[in-house]
This record gives sequence, structure tokens and C-alpha cells, in this order.
Amino acid sequence: MQELNSDTRTLTASAWNGFDFVALVKKIKNWGKELGFSELGIAGADVSATTPKLLRWLELGRHGEMNYMAKHAALRAQPETLVPGTLSVVTARLPYLPAAAECEQVLGNRELAYISRYALGRDYHKTIRNRLQKLANRIHGEISQSEQESSFAYRVFSDSAPVMEVEFARQSGIAWRGKHSLALTRSGSWHFLGEIYTTLPLPPDELISEHCGTCIRCLEACPTAAIVAPYEVDARRCISYLTIELAGPIPVELRPLIGNRIYGCDDCQLCCPWNEFAQLGDPDFAVRNGLDATSLATLFSWNEQAFMTRLEGSPIRRIGHTRWLRNIAVALGNAANTAEASAALSTRLEHPSALVREHVRWALAQIHSDSS
Ligand code: SF4
Ligand code: SF4
Repeated sequence: MQELNSDTRTLTASAWNGFDFVALVKKIKNWGKELGFSELGIAGADVSATTPKLLRWLELGRHGEMNYMAKHAALRAQPETLVPGTLSVVTARLPYLPAAAECEQVLGNRELAYISRYALGRDYHKTIRNRLQKLANRIHGEISQSEQESSFAYRVFSDSAPVMEVEFARQSGIAWRGKHSLALTRSGSWHFLGEIYTTLPLPPDELISEHCGTCIRCLEACPTAAIVAPYEVDARRCISYLTIELAGPIPVELRPLIGNRIYGCDDCQLCCPWNEFAQLGDPDFAVRNGLDATSLATLFSWNEQAFMTRLEGSPIRRIGHTRWLRNIAVALGNAANTAEASAALSTRLEHPSALVREHVRWALAQIHSDSS
């Protein structure tokens, strides 16, 4: 992270003495493409129009146990509080859809584990931040050559701080907000977002028009009815939240709806017509360890050591082995192959974690009630 110098904190556009920011933005977009980003845009650092929606979402408790969302709401709502002097946001998106993403087949085979497509390969946080850092270095080089008295200060992000990522993507014209609340484009939504907050007064891009129209496929496809209205997701019902963010027990009434999804959920993207035009993702996010089609029983057999070793460099590691077993236990309880599921579950009946034991007992009870 680059710290801002105190002399940049009072920076204004007028300090730049006729510098050609239009030409700079053109260069930034070309450099970004060279770094593999599919699209870049520029937004002003103002999210005041959308802040009331965030506050309402928090008031309704729809963030569940993601206390950091409430704790850092002010930082999210006021970019200049997070990084003093911020005037503009450079946004970027990087596609991640792996080549062999046979989603429907895996979702339809209850012996296999479904893992959200973004998590099948390497962790995106570092990859995107490293590329944005390279982009920032090039901007810095350009500014240095111009012998301006004002300096360039910045900080790069990718899902790594309280930043309104989708809103900045929308404002910078690289996406619109789909009714599933994700950033959507004419080439779909399988992309990561990244941002550079900067003190440069860059000219913002125009918004693009929205193309959800009368479609409500994502609302209808959500297995847990978590999209409670267009553009409104109640995280407490969302499988991504339940399998990744939630630390404690998964609500019993939602467990059967989770199916074989053990880390995240893609259903609201899989059904989206715009994803028929999706580009393949960056090679950096290729599938590792066969995670796109491995059996639940195999993944459930991994001990903590195997979990840590095999998922080195994967975003999945952040949930830890206990939540991993909790999630797979639920999926095994929902599995069709009861004999194999039952045998796998029985191996964890005495697991040291009460959370795991309780989910294992629930899963075994599901299987026995199905077979009786
Ligand atoms: S990720 Fe899954 S559970 Fe969450 S809103 Fe989308 S479809 Fe619903
Ligand atoms: S499924 Fe339809 S409504 Fe939902 S995000 Fe895609 S286009 Fe928009």
C-alpha cells in the first residue's frame, strides 16, 4: 500500500497547471489492457447517491454477521476518509471464468462438490492488486516526466477494504448493476473488480445503459430466495454468505436448499442471459486440484494438513478446515448416494469441533429419514 504524503492531502485540480488528463486516461486504459484487464473506467470519488441504500441494508440487518460492513460503513461511504485527498477512482475488471466450467453437470451430480467458479483457481486479491500496482507505477512514471509540482498519491484495492466496488464500476461505465446486485456487462458477470483511489483529478467516464429490462431470472433461480427484490440481496439467506462468511451453524431450514454447494454459489449468474456471451477468464485463474469436479467424500476426507496444503494460494483457505467440513457435511446430508455419504459422515462423528459434529449428526439424520 502506498501511503499518501501530507502535501497531497490538500490537492485540487487547479494545482495541475494545464496537465492533459484526457491523454493520461487514454494511456491508463491502454496500459490496463496490456496488463490483461478487459476494461477500465474512471469514476469520481462520490458515492453519496447510493449511501442511503447501504444504510437501509444495514438497518434491516441484511449483512448478517458481517459486522465489518456496519463498522466500516463511513469509510465505504466516504472514499476521502479511507484515503485522504481522493478525487478519482480508476476501475478495472478482469474475467475469471475457467475453460472447463461444467457448472450444470456438477450441480446436478449430488456426489460432486460445487465450488463457486471464482474460487477454483488462485486467490484473486493479490493477482489483481499486483496488476493495479504495475498500472499505478506506470502512471507515476508519466507524472514524474511531466515535472508537475503536484504529486500522484494512490492506493490499490480488490475486495480488500471498504470500497463500493460495484457502484464505482457502474459510475465509471464498465458495468451496470444487475438485479442480482452484481456488476454486469454485455459480456456477463464472471469478472473480478479492482480499483485505484487516486488524488489525480481524472475526467470521469459516462454511465452505460442498463440491460436487465423485464428479466427476473436471477430472482427466480436463487435457491434460497435471497434476492428479496430487484437489486436487494439479503445476505443472511445467500449461500455465498452461509458457506463463506458465517462462522457458526448454518440455519437448519436453509440447509436442504444448499444442495451440493460447499463454497459460494453461482446460480444467479448461471441463469443470467448475458453470461451466454461471457469471455473465458485470465489463465491465472485456471482450475487447480481438480476442484471443478471432485467428490464430496474425497474433500470431506482431507484432514487439516491436506486442506492447508492442497488449497495453498486459494481463496478457500480463508474459511478454515472447520467451516470446510461443516459445509461438506451439509452437502453430504443433501446427497443422493446415501451409502457413500453415510460412510463419509460417520468418520467425523467424533470430530473435536462441536460445529462439525452437529452438522454431521444433522446430515446423517437427513440420510436416515430419506432411506426410511
Ligand atoms: S449467490 Fe446464490 S444464494 Fe446468493 S443471491 Fe445468488 S443465487 Fe441466491
Ligand atoms: S438474470 Fe436477468 S435480471 Fe438478473 S442480472 Fe441477469 S439480466 Fe439482470
